[in-house]
Amino acid sequence: HPFVELDRVRLAYGGGTLAVDGLSLSVAAGEFAAVVGPSGCGKSTLMKLVTGLMPPTSGGVIVDGHEVAGPLKIAGMAFQNPTLLPWRTTLGNLMLPLEIVQPHRARLRRERAAYDAQARALLASVGLAGFEGRFPWQLSGGMQQRASLCRALIHEPKLLMLDEPFGALDAFTREELWAVLQTVWMERRFTTILVTHDLREAVYLADTVFVMSSRPGRVVSRYEIDLPRPRT
Ligand code: ADP
Ligand code: ADP
Repeated sequence: HPFVELDRVRLAYGGGTLAVDGLSLSVAAGEFAAVVGPSGCGKSTLMKLVTGLMPPTSGGVIVDGHEVAGPLKIAGMAFQNPTLLPWRTTLGNLMLPLEIVQPHRARLRRERAAYDAQARALLASVGLAGFEGRFPWQLSGGMQQRASLCRALIHEPKLLMLDEPFGALDAFTREELWAVLQTVWMERRFTTILVTHDLREAVYLADTVFVMSSRPGRVVSRYEIDLPRPRT
């Protein structure tokens, strides 16, 4: 069944820019979808709509059977630039998703040890073992980006939303992280939407590739990638 569904969505920004119009797409539970298209076609707008950061002007945005009304707590998110809290260490930043879904203090304390071990293992898988106690300003840009990706992946998000998370990385690190993401996804199969303008990245990672076009933004084609994993 569809986990994310957009039905003829229209979004006009203040000032009148019609960013998307007639935008429809459907992503099944456990599917890895990529959305590609030229700059300005509405990819970031699509991310904001699905994560509830912005309401549509008209049309429906449904996630997990419910109309989205406000920021989604069930989504892990990562963007092109790292978004770590500067006053928290790497490990402290990775705690955030747990704190958001588990505001009950006593339960949080109890769950913390298992979560901590999981966070350390995930950091190690992206080459950040030994950096758990560092603050963002003590890490390179690429390292911060890897930590941001870990924060999006941890705690089994029901939905993973990625907006060009590898765009600012060097080619070598980028392909390493593709493999990390693919491994984690194959273990847990959370529904994923990846926005990218890198077609090779889309084909490497996704089951389905949606192509958007601009003026106004909408999905114009959908391709199923039927290749064995892992892909190279
Ligand atoms: P993409 O991520 O594909 O580059 P965006 O979703 O950022 O595209 O933008 C889609 C369209 O909406 C573009 O024409 C862009 O200029 C416009 N747009 C994006 N954000 C805003 C905003 N905050 N205010 C006004 N127009 C915007
Ligand atoms: P990137 O931004 O791609 O991670 P950099 O060129 O900034 O790479 O850094 C190259 C390598 O140097 C990093 O992968 C890391 O191993 C090491 N490094 C960078 N910054 C630090 C730091 N603040 N502390 C320790 N090692 C670092």
